[in-house]
Amino acid sequence: MSMNVAIDGPAGAGKSTIARKVAETLDYVYVDTGAMYRAMALYFLNEGIDASDAGAIGKACDDIEISIAYEEGQQKVLLNGEDVTGRIRDEKVGNMASVTSAYGCVREKLVALQRKLAARENVIMDGRDIGTCVLPEAQVKIYLTASVEVRAKRRYQELEKKGETCRLDEIEQDIRKRDERDMNREISPLRQAEDAILVDSSDMTIDQVVACIVSLCKEER
Ligand code: C5P
Repeated sequence: MSMNVAIDGPAGAGKSTIARKVAETLDYVYVDTGAMYRAMALYFLNEGIDASDAGAIGKACDDIEISIAYEEGQQKVLLNGEDVTGRIRDEKVGNMASVTSAYGCVREKLVALQRKLAARENVIMDGRDIGTCVLPEAQVKIYLTASVEVRAKRRYQELEKKGETCRLDEIEQDIRKRDERDMNREISPLRQAEDAILVDSSDMTIDQVVACIVSLCKEER
């Protein structure tokens, strides 16, 4: 049976940075499920579909195929065969994903793909519903969080590094809105699975969090 590690938590908690490092250390495949929701959101944006138009979203779901490929260990997301990895990172796509991920048709499609990936490889998968819904049998479940202020500051510094102009108060507001949507949607809301270990990274370095998760995984092997 393959080893499955689930990392859930709110936006900006550092899930992807940490999951990537744990995957490297343990030689597992890292699966970034947020990238899949973002790729679908990019399609809706490209097609000019309104996020509140359930009919149009449902119809569009039939026309979307998301797949994953790995190039030198890096995950690539393909939207109808086209590599969109570089185009899904802006705030517009993230905000659209946070709204359209609430639709059942969007989630069904992606959860099926995620389960298929986890069945055949040792994976560390990050998202919002991995421990609660996608991989309820995962051997290690982590709920990774940090205060809103710390998450906003980290995101601000990340954008600044990329040379983008941004405002800390706007980022903080965005994160609060995303938390609110992710935690209160009807289908698979973000919450800590009963058997997940809570890790609050507000006062921890990345390496400390990685070491903590790696040791939990080693105990389970
Ligand atoms: O993690 P990331 O910010 O890339 O995710 C984008 C959006 O996709 C999130 O705000 C969330 O609404 C959605 N998502 C989800 N379930 C997942 C992963 C992401 O609903 N497993």
